[in-house]
Amino acid sequence: MTRLTTPRYQTANATLPGNKLVWDTLLNQSDLFAYNTANDGKGGPFGAQLWLVNEDQNKYILVGTAQEAEDSNAVVSKGRASAHAEAENLSPQKRGELINFLKDHSLENWKIVQVSSGESCPSCRTKQVLLADELIEAGFLGEKDFHVVFKATYDQTKRDADFNDAPYDQTFRAISELGVLNSTDKLLGLENTLKENDITSSQIQSGELVYNAVDLVESTDIPEQVNNLFKQAGEQPVAIIVRPNGDIMSIGLDERDPSIDGINAPEKTAIVSALYKAAAKQRDEEGKFEAWNLEGARLYTNISDIGPMAYSEALWYNLSDMKIVEDYTSTLVDALNQELPGTENAVIFEQVAADYNTGSSPLQVIFNGDPEEASVAHLLWKAKMAMEGLKNRQTERLSELTQQNNGMPTFQYIDGTTAPLSDLILSSQESSHYDGKQAELIPTQS
Ligand SMILES: [Zn+2]
Repeated sequence: MTRLTTPRYQTANATLPGNKLVWDTLLNQSDLFAYNTANDGKGGPFGAQLWLVNEDQNKYILVGTAQEAEDSNAVVSKGRASAHAEAENLSPQKRGELINFLKDHSLENWKIVQVSSGESCPSCRTKQVLLADELIEAGFLGEKDFHVVFKATYDQTKRDADFNDAPYDQTFRAISELGVLNSTDKLLGLENTLKENDITSSQIQSGELVYNAVDLVESTDIPEQVNNLFKQAGEQPVAIIVRPNGDIMSIGLDERDPSIDGINAPEKTAIVSALYKAAAKQRDEEGKFEAWNLEGARLYTNISDIGPMAYSEALWYNLSDMKIVEDYTSTLVDALNQELPGTENAVIFEQVAADYNTGSSPLQVIFNGDPEEASVAHLLWKAKMAMEGLKNRQTERLSELTQQNNGMPTFQYIDGTTAPLSDLILSSQESSHYDGKQAELIPTQS
C-alpha cells in the first residue's frame, strides 16, 4: 500500500486544453497576484483565477471583471478558515455567471480551467467537485472538462511558507484507501480504522494526518438544552456547536433556497452554517483574531450521511469531535442535507477523496509548477514571518537592555544630540524612507 506514503501531486498529470504557454503565464500571474495581496496584508500567499476555454474558437474567457479579475486568500479579512483563494474564486456570483454562460453556449464545447497558485486543500477540492458535478449533471459541461492547474505542491507550500494542508487531505485519502465509506459504519468507523492501520496510526502520531472523530450518541447522553433544540428542529438537518463549558455557540440549519440561490449552495448546509456562525460570533462578539479556532467545541448533528464539504470545513475549526444523535437521524434528514441534491453525500465524498485523475472524480488536475522553484508569494510570506520573529526578538533585547540600565538607554549622535535607544531600534518603518546618499563626493582633480 504505497498510496498513503506517496505525495498526492504525483498523479496530477492530466492534460490542459489550449496553449501551454498561456497557462504557464496565467499560473505565474496568479503567484504574482498572491505576492501583492499578501504584501498588502489581505491574507495568505495564494491566488486563483477561473477561466472558460474553447479550443475550437481559440478563446479564453476570464470569469471576472477588470476590477476583480483574480482572487486571493481572505482567511484573515473574513475570519473564516476556509476562505482560500480557490473558494473565493468560486463565489456564488462567479458560479452563477459561469452557469449562465454555459447554459447559453452548451453546444460549443467549452471547458473550465481553475488556475491556483497552490495545490487545493480538501475543502476547496470539494467545492470544485460539487460545481463540476452540478454542471456535468445539468448537461452544461462534458465529463472530463473541469480542470484545475496548480503551481506549488503541498510539500513546497509547507517548506516555503509553513502552511500545511497535507494532513487534512491525508484523512480524505485514508478514507478512500481504507474503504471507510464502504463499511457499514461509514464515518463512524473512521477513528478505529485509522488507528488500526500501521501507516495511518503513525501518521496521526507524527501530525501527518489530522481528522475529526465521528461518533454515535443517544439523546439521553446529550445536554438537555441541546436535546430540546433537536426536538424543535424535527426532521430538518441541524447542527449545534457547544463549548466544553456547555455554552451553545451556534445552531445551523439548512438555509438553501433554490428559488433565491439560483445555483446549488452547499455552503448553506446545516453543518457548514453552524461552523460559519460560530466563527462569526467569536469574531464579532469577542473580537477573536483566529475566529475559526473553536477550541475543542463539540458539534452535534442529526445528519448521519455527513458530506465532504461539511467534514472538510469542520477540520479547520479545532473541534473536539462530531456527535451524531442517533434518535434524531432519518432518511429524510439525510436526503435534505445532500450537498448536491439528488446524490448521496458518500458518493461525493469518494470523488473528493480519490487521488487525482483516478476513480470517480470529475476533476482533471494538473501540477504545472517546478518542484525546484518556489512560489514568489511563499518566499515573501517566509520573509515576513522571519521579519516578525526578528522584530519580536529585538523588542525583547531592548527590554533586557532597559533592565540592565535601569531605564531606557540613550545614545548620542555625532552632532551631540542624544536620543533613547528605542528611537533607533524598531524604527524600521521610518528608515524605509531611506533614499540613499543624495550628495556625492566630487573626486578631486590631481
Ligand atoms: Zn483550500
